[in-house]
Amino acid sequence: MTTIPSVLPNDAPVRIVRAPEPLPLYCTRCAADVGASAQALCSTCLGPLQPQYDTARPLPSRRELRSRARSIWRYSEWLPFRGAPVLAQQVGFTPLLEAPQLAHELGVARVWVKNDAVSFPSLSFKDRVVATALNAAQAFGLTTVGCASTGNLANAVAAAAAAAGLPAWIFIPADLEVAKVVGTSVYGPHLVRVRGTYDDVNRLCAQLADRFDWGIVNVNLRAYYGEGSKTMGFEIVDQLDWRFPSAVIAPMAGGSLVTKLHKAFSEFAAAGLAHGSVPRIYGAQASGCAPIVRFVQSNARAVTPERPQTIVRSLAIGNPADAPTARDAILGTNGWAHAVDDQDVAIGIRRLAEATGIFTETAGGVTVAAAYALAQQGRLTPDDEVVLCITGNGLKTIDAAAQGISEAPEIPARLSAVEALVAATV
Ligand SMILES: *Cc1c(COP(=O)(O)O)cnc(C)c1O
Ligand SMILES: [Zn+2]
Repeated sequence: MTTIPSVLPNDAPVRIVRAPEPLPLYCTRCAADVGASAQALCSTCLGPLQPQYDTARPLPSRRELRSRARSIWRYSEWLPFRGAPVLAQQVGFTPLLEAPQLAHELGVARVWVKNDAVSFPSLSFKDRVVATALNAAQAFGLTTVGCASTGNLANAVAAAAAAAGLPAWIFIPADLEVAKVVGTSVYGPHLVRVRGTYDDVNRLCAQLADRFDWGIVNVNLRAYYGEGSKTMGFEIVDQLDWRFPSAVIAPMAGGSLVTKLHKAFSEFAAAGLAHGSVPRIYGAQASGCAPIVRFVQSNARAVTPERPQTIVRSLAIGNPADAPTARDAILGTNGWAHAVDDQDVAIGIRRLAEATGIFTETAGGVTVAAAYALAQQGRLTPDDEVVLCITGNGLKTIDAAAQGISEAPEIPARLSAVEALVAATV
């Protein structure tokens, strides 16, 4: 009999801590000043909002940056707050691992894997965006948080909210992978499975943000949330000793990550922190949900929403919010976009595992498979130095990886049985 108290769902009393001061927002379409607030869109023109950084703020040197703790907060001058964070202080600084075998196979000079499969605490790059969004929620006095999620964001919000002692309302499509459901429920949030696609869930959450006083991280805190993605780019440059790679390949769902990678590289270039030119940015999606890839590859004026049909649930956003800025990031850097068939996702997952010892989820399989396709198309060249952004952990999508893996032999516990197996392998 256990004596551990269980108080699920987690509605424990909220601790009040002094939050950092969020930067004011402005509208990227009509330039309206919005002030610091939990607001999804510009109230005048419905344009997207962004934090307004003081262009005269003092910036740190490389040496100063290197003296700071290894977390996303090392780059605080480029994060949307004044003052120190009170939540999620440990997030970030995942490994950047060189992968010579992949470089050889792709026919490029060097390859590194940015490994957010081991992101703290919830094993995906969504820990970064939740870290910035939750500090904004705290500052705005929003003591209940939430999200619309394809899975990883649900894990990240639930984990961070539990650590902060905040109640959370989390909305996911009803048919999500069991590991992502359990990996959310375990933290004790109010988890709600919605019949419909992610886009239905997202629309519902837009209404909820108006109806309740909640900080929905990717809706009314989106301007603060998105900036957290930049830290993946900052870390890549820092870990390469202030050099840019020549190309970066990243998966796309709503298109925020590739947009913010571009912003991060541009900011470090402007600050004189990195040598060389900003890397070419390549975006990858699954063919069964590739609205941004098709948008990049066509001359269309607007993205055409799709109804997702793919095993890559984490990227299954049919109506991506950041498609225009994602396309600008990709085309503005002479990059490209590629869609990967579901059967190649499992191959990509296995190739990365065998070549680097890193087990990624379906989104990582998309990234690796896209790298091989881009190399084959001649878009990666022998002098290229490529970073693959691996954004999530393979233990969350076991079924996808299990495809095509042969069953391990079962034997009696006898020496002769192993001798027979060993003999059969030579
Ligand atoms: C959310 C997510 C992405 C990309 O998300 P954007 O919405 O494009 O920023 C990539 N990989 C994984 C594993 C994700 O969960
Ligand atoms: Zn506006």
